[in-house]
Formats: sequence, C-alpha cells, structure tokens
Amino acid sequence: MEMTADMLDRIKASITRAKEGGFYGKRFAGISPDDIKSRGDFEKLPFTEKEDLRDAYPLGLLAVDEEKIVRIHSSSGTTGTPVIIPYTQKDVNDWAIMFKRCYETAGLTKKDRVHITPGYGLWTAGIGFQLGAELLGAMTIPMGPGNTDKQIKMMEDLQSTVLCATSSYALLLAEEIEKRGVKDKIRLRKGIIGSERWGEKMRKRIAAELGVELYDIYGLTEIYGPGIGISCKYQCGMHMWTDYLYYEVINPHTGALVAPGEIGELVITTLCKEGAPLIRYRTHDLTREISGPCECGSAYPRIDTLIGRSDDMIKVKGTMIYPSRVDELLSSIPDVSSEYQIQIDHLNGRDIINLFFETPLTDKAAMKALEKTVEDAFKEKIGLSPKPMAVGMGELPRSEKKSTRIFDNRY
Ligand code: ZN
Repeated sequence: MEMTADMLDRIKASITRAKEGGFYGKRFAGISPDDIKSRGDFEKLPFTEKEDLRDAYPLGLLAVDEEKIVRIHSSSGTTGTPVIIPYTQKDVNDWAIMFKRCYETAGLTKKDRVHITPGYGLWTAGIGFQLGAELLGAMTIPMGPGNTDKQIKMMEDLQSTVLCATSSYALLLAEEIEKRGVKDKIRLRKGIIGSERWGEKMRKRIAAELGVELYDIYGLTEIYGPGIGISCKYQCGMHMWTDYLYYEVINPHTGALVAPGEIGELVITTLCKEGAPLIRYRTHDLTREISGPCECGSAYPRIDTLIGRSDDMIKVKGTMIYPSRVDELLSSIPDVSSEYQIQIDHLNGRDIINLFFETPLTDKAAMKALEKTVEDAFKEKIGLSPKPMAVGMGELPRSEKKSTRIFDNRY
C-alpha cells in the first residue's frame, strides 16, 4: 500500500514504542527511528517471524510496564511453544473499535442479534466478535463452538440474525438446519466468516442453504485477532483498517515487494499497538493488493480474500502452483472428484508434473478424453502442462492432511 509522510511518521512512532520492549530493543539496538527517512529505509528493516515470537515466550514482546497489561492472548500453533501477546486496555479498545467497523461494513446495526460460535479463551476469536458486537450495541449471543442441538435451538428461540463462524462450522450448521427442516424458523440474514482459504463452491452452498449474505473477516492473534479487515457487500476483497496497521505484500522467497496486484505474502506493521507492537510481521497468508476505489465508497484499501499459505505454494518452471487454485480448477470440471495428487519430479534436466485424479468414469476412452480436458484447463488457468492420469474412485491414498496433495520430489 501507499506510504504517505503521515504513515511514515506513525510507523516511526510504533518502532519507538516497540524498542521499549526486550525483543525489539535488542533487534533494533543499532537503529534509530529518525534514521528511517523513506519507504526504502523502512523496507530495509528485518522481518519478524512467528519463530521470533515463540523465542520471546512468555513475555519477551512486552513493550510497556506490566501494570498496563490487562489481558493476554495466545496463538496455539501446531507445534512447540505458543506465542503470548499482551494487550493494554487501549489495545483491547482499539480492537473493539476495528471489529465494530467490520460489523458496520457488513451492514449490521444495533437491532441485530449476533450469534457467536468461534471459541473463547486464550484464543482471540470469540471475545473479539463479542467486543465488537457489544460496542455496536447489538444483542450478543456468546455460544462458543460445538453442541449443534443447542446452537440451532438458540437460533430459533432468540431469532439470531447474524452467524459468526468458521466456514466449516457454518457449513455444518447449514447442513443440520436443512436436515432438520427448520429453515423457516431461522431468521439469519448475514454470516461473518473467519477468513481462511475456502472455495467458491462451499461459499455458495453456505449462502444458499442458510439464505444469508456472507462476509470474510480477517485477522490473526499476533495482530489483535480477527477484525482487522472485512469484505463489503460488493465482495471484491477485504477492506483493511489502515489507521491501525500498515501492510506490504512480498515475494515469500526473496522478501522483496511484489508489483501491485501480484500474489504474495501479507506482511503487517502495527501502528497503534502498545502491549506488543509488531514491525514487518510475516503472516504467511497469501493475497494480493486490489487497487482503485471500491464501489462501496470506503476509503480503506483492499486485499484479496486469502489465496492460501505461503508455506503451501510450489514453484515449477517459473510458475507458482497454489493448492487453492488446483482445488478450484479441478472442482470446476465435471467427473473429476475432489481427490487428487500431484507429484513433481526432476528428470533429465526437466521438471515433470504428474497429476493423478479420481473419477467415477470407468470407460477407458471417456477417461482419456477427461485427461485431455484436465490438461487443457490446467494449461489455460495455471499456465503449466501436467501429465494427467485418471484413476478410479478410492484408488489414491487418503491422507489426513489436505496439504499433502502436492508432493515435490525434486530436491
Ligand atoms: Zn467495499
């Protein structure tokens, strides 16, 4: 995004505050904020990685007197030490203000009844949804996750108008409501869905089955939590609250900024955070900047809904392969099941992409024709020519982790 003189000043102020803490005090020991005179100077600062935050466990990120801290949150991570983020009262208030703005962008008012299913506790999700809804003046229904019977009963009895959920839980609830034939007792009109990679098919199903408008809300525990950006009714990316944060989109391999509109990894610098300011924090979320004004009239700039994680992408013959794009492409072709596997090998100096996919077809000629369709679609949409091989249903090994559908055997 653009860096105005005012933004540079705010970033410098944030760096000054960050240096009060142990972590940045050490990292930026030789750097004075006054040395940062331009965007170029700022971009020379090192990135902050999640691993750095883990190393600072438990309270190494603390950048104010401990008496000012009113709360901590923690991001679990899949392995190893968690990350602890301390919040001052101002941090908590700022988060609520941003979240309220998210709800307003999605068209909520104090007349809404907000049904919150994300979890409460150390994790930032549930309480963030709650703070924003209360500040808006809506009626909050703090359900937390699980207990589908009770969720649906409360939705019916309290006439919830807004569902806050992950995409998978929203889908589960939609299916249950359909199965129980209680759709006419439900008054939901909007869904606020925690942003993650989710396909267009799933979005359409949730919207249709629940009869709601869907909004993608973005955030991560390290930077407040959910609520730092949201899509508007025009569904063309997420508006980001750039009075609280500065963001960059970088090439995850080189660390250089990508050209505007190109896919890369989102990097965030906090502008107002007191408890644990973060400078150039790598989110590992893949997205791209969307330029130009939005039809909704909001002045806040936009990033695309998440495309995936930078850890998942693979480069072949100079072209990036994103698992989400492959999912999307294959799901758009009739008779291709969602089960597939890509094996990338390096043979005789060339990269070879073998793409195995399952199909319910059994006729050999029809399978051959389908392989050709897949090859053409891949070439057109992704820019690579794989060697597709159709196999019968259930023939590919099932893996517990979705991310292990692409195997890079080159190195
Ligand atoms: Zn908009």
